[in-house]
Amino acid sequence: MLGAKVRARAKINLFLDVGEAREDGYHEVRSIMQSLELSDDLYFRRTDATSERFVLRCNESEVPLTNQNLVWHALEVFDANLGVMGREGIEVIINKKIPVGAGLGGGSADAAATLCAMNYIYELDLPMETLMEMAKEIGSDVPFCLEGGTCLAKGRGEEIMPLEPLPPLNVVLAMMGDKTLTADAYARLDELRKGQTPSEEQGGNLEALIEAVTRRDLDALFSRLYNSFESATMASGHAPDLKKAALEAGAKAVLMTGSGPAVFALAPSTEEASRVAWELERVAPLVIITKFSEKGAEVVSYS
Ligand code: ATP
Repeated sequence: MLGAKVRARAKINLFLDVGEAREDGYHEVRSIMQSLELSDDLYFRRTDATSERFVLRCNESEVPLTNQNLVWHALEVFDANLGVMGREGIEVIINKKIPVGAGLGGGSADAAATLCAMNYIYELDLPMETLMEMAKEIGSDVPFCLEGGTCLAKGRGEEIMPLEPLPPLNVVLAMMGDKTLTADAYARLDELRKGQTPSEEQGGNLEALIEAVTRRDLDALFSRLYNSFESATMASGHAPDLKKAALEAGAKAVLMTGSGPAVFALAPSTEEASRVAWELERVAPLVIITKFSEKGAEVVSYS
């Protein structure tokens, strides 16, 4: 196998409770993560040895094409663990459709896609557990982006437990174009909490949300969405305006995803989704209609 096209699916957090900072600097999180149909497409090709081992190209100029790219990091981790590349190189074309720095996990999705591609084009047939170990080495959200569907995530986000898959609900994403650096969002959250007693901040009800997912009870699901970052990120950004517009347009539930700043609205019918998107387009330059997906990173074709 010389090449593969891989779909790298975006994620949203239906629930994200950020706990205390740990000794290793990471925060303990409890999250329910959900894959979306919205995806980047990545094309991988084995090449003869050249001066560059990895050559990355991308349609988005702001995405680094160096070892700062999570795809590059994933290629390094894969080869360090398995040593299959020998003197060969890899060329990757990243066709980004997931907005960058929005809380939609685009970089992590691309890294998960890289592990799938390498497994495929080197015909290794590695078990999921082996890919998962490498995913954990690359980043906290990479294991989920590999697994996909609906999952409970714990630890720093890398301990994944699949839940009952949810039906393909319509999702409307909206953002103003500003970006959040995840590290800054954690720092702001820590700062905000310094002056608070723990009871001042509700931590959401994870058990109730898991039950809603298990029973596929959408009304309960809509009422239990929660994100610790909303207080820290929303105060300074546009997310409150977007939330208000989506709710006024009849969205059943609206929440910021990850450390933001994108917000998502859930709409059971396509008519509702179109109405919410139409209203949001009046206030936000970037609005995307997509759906829940049961899949994570996936090889879709090869040569
Ligand atoms: P996080 O996973 O930290 O919540 P995010 O989903 O908000 O991140 P990403 O789209 O993953 O945001 O991008 C965050 C940063 O990661 C970008 O500013 C970019 O410089 C860097 N980056 C590295 N690799 C990639 C990639 N393959 N695609 C997009 N961004 C990447």
